[in-house]
Amino acid sequence: KRVVTEFDKVTDSVCPFCGVGCQTTVYSKDNKIVLVDGRDGPANENRLCVKGRFGFDYAMSKDRLTKPLIRRDDALKRGDIDMRFMQVSDVFREATWEEAMERAATGLTRIRDEDGGGAIAGFGSAKGSNEEAYLFQKLIRQGFGTNNVDHCTRLCHASSVAALLEGVGSGAVSAPFMDALKSDCVIVIGARPGQNHPVAATYFKQAAKQGTKLIVMDPRGQELMRHASHGLRFKPGTDVALLNAMLHVIIEEKLYDQQYIQANVSGFEALKEKVKDFAPEAMAEVCGIAADVIRDVARIYATSERSIIFWGMGISQHTHGTDNSRCLIALALITGHVGRPGTGLHPLRGQNNVQGASDAGLIPMFFPDYRSVENVDIRGEMEDFWGRTLDPKKGLTVVEIIDAIHEGSIKGMYVMGENPAMSDPDQIHAREALAKLDHLVVQDIFLTETAWHADVVLPASAHAEKLGTYSNTNRQVQIGRPAIDMPGEARQDWELIVELANRSGLDWSYDGVPAVYEEMRQVMASLNYISWDRLEANESVTYPSKPDGEEQWVVFDDRFPTADGRGRIVPADLRAPDEVPDEEFPMVLTTGRLLEHWHTGSMTRRAEVLDAIEPEGIAAMNPREIARHGLQAGEMIAVETRRGTIEAVLRADREVADGMVFIPFCFNESPANRLTNPMLDPYGKIPEFKFCAAKVSAASMR
Ligand code: SF4
Repeated sequence: KRVVTEFDKVTDSVCPFCGVGCQTTVYSKDNKIVLVDGRDGPANENRLCVKGRFGFDYAMSKDRLTKPLIRRDDALKRGDIDMRFMQVSDVFREATWEEAMERAATGLTRIRDEDGGGAIAGFGSAKGSNEEAYLFQKLIRQGFGTNNVDHCTRLCHASSVAALLEGVGSGAVSAPFMDALKSDCVIVIGARPGQNHPVAATYFKQAAKQGTKLIVMDPRGQELMRHASHGLRFKPGTDVALLNAMLHVIIEEKLYDQQYIQANVSGFEALKEKVKDFAPEAMAEVCGIAADVIRDVARIYATSERSIIFWGMGISQHTHGTDNSRCLIALALITGHVGRPGTGLHPLRGQNNVQGASDAGLIPMFFPDYRSVENVDIRGEMEDFWGRTLDPKKGLTVVEIIDAIHEGSIKGMYVMGENPAMSDPDQIHAREALAKLDHLVVQDIFLTETAWHADVVLPASAHAEKLGTYSNTNRQVQIGRPAIDMPGEARQDWELIVELANRSGLDWSYDGVPAVYEEMRQVMASLNYISWDRLEANESVTYPSKPDGEEQWVVFDDRFPTADGRGRIVPADLRAPDEVPDEEFPMVLTTGRLLEHWHTGSMTRRAEVLDAIEPEGIAAMNPREIARHGLQAGEMIAVETRRGTIEAVLRADREVADGMVFIPFCFNESPANRLTNPMLDPYGKIPEFKFCAAKVSAASMR
């Protein structure tokens, strides 16, 4: 541990970045954070990664918004502008809070009153606290009368959640990632925990070191494969072929758990029928993995005493993302590898509070705790609780909202902490939608690419400046606490939501964040027996909790939370990605994150150490592919798809497969999502970020 001598405040908090939920100690002096260290939390045991340790100074950036801004009357709205070359004063003027809040509220209420609540939509944020997520969705539903509320879960694990709700009745993980240490076989598929969940990755490496079989499956190579017993670099987009082939082996060789299936599972016969055609020998060519290797990993997974599966965006961000997850669920159900320590299903959640924001109802089809907005009885309960008539139909999802703006049915938006101008697929289409809105209110800590399109910008609070609860990937609810004060006139997010609610005709009153949390507990059975005082005392509590206080780290030990208590297998068909390479666009473009940069980069690119390590927009290709294209690593290249072209610095990377180009989506100078395909998975409504057709050339040839 480093020794800090120069500080005047010590704050126990949690990391603002990934879903691992590392507990931190934040040291500050003169209202500036000087150091962040790891605490002994259940998910990190004092460990932190480079982001958690060095990514704190964005909160003190000179770029922080300190005053409300209102769009100038003469500022044009266009979707295709490059904000990096614009002056703030050309677009916005500073305003008082009174003027900004009045303008924000009247713009939204006018649209609601003239066009109906369905003309409004809200994007909340998985970076906000549970309390902010709860208030935000409540305002959109109760105040504007619509379920058009969503957040970036739609862009990460929406398809996993759709499959999990359908299969096992719960969208959350069945066991924490630390259970890898209790497993005999760990499968990591379509995830790069070394980059995106680095502290979780340390548990996988420890498990491998003590003899657990670690099977890593990913079209791109990765550092974790060095620790693995098996590294399967299958062809991109062929997940169902590979996983159905494993299911075929387990069924053909009778390695399934007949007793468990009989007692707990439905749909096995249909699965048997479906995977008959997926013999490894037939699928080897399709997925690029030798039949004997497929047989080997299937046997190891099925016959190990305890096996657990972790997955990430490589599984979910496909038009067949739900099918991919269905296959993983089927693997666990037919082998009985669920409901016991060291077994289970764990979609590694990306953002620090994507689990909590979804739990709190920041999604268009569910009230808090995944209770359907279309169920008359549930809706009646919520109408009684909130005292208003509520929208009876499911709302639109992230990409559907962007399309609805283009169609003219959505005219006003409230965006809190989300950056769709960078994160949404087919970026020009998304930015043109934002420019087309009659009224856009953006609440954020920076003038993000999205905020440039706003009519009103509300300066808000950074993670290090606020109190709130966050739920990590393990279902552990933890408290984040303010270490420093907000700059200038910036205000707390939760207070801004409350003020907007009251200016929109509601009558809300909360005397602090704990009061919001206690209201949530009245409609969220998942938080039963987890009071604010208990969180304060324990620092971390896993839900669900039993009345005697016992935390259920592993769930589904006796039954599944489905109507009949059984897990349901839904067999999956092999479907090609929406847009496959052809003569004109012969490469596969895939996107993702880097270890040092977080999502759209608004935070980490303003963190000095992190941006110094990864300072510029890159596109990575295998050296063989670079040579085939007659290019040189380090030169500027152009990457083009049917939706646009960007330029980036070419990086040689042996982890990238032949025929593929990888672009991280955090760089606004090389915005990957200008290129991506917005086609959706039909169930999870998640876009196909992981696969589209592209071509590459020297930038000078354009
Ligand atoms: Fe933060 Fe995740 Fe790194 Fe932990 S692993 S320090 S939660 S970014």
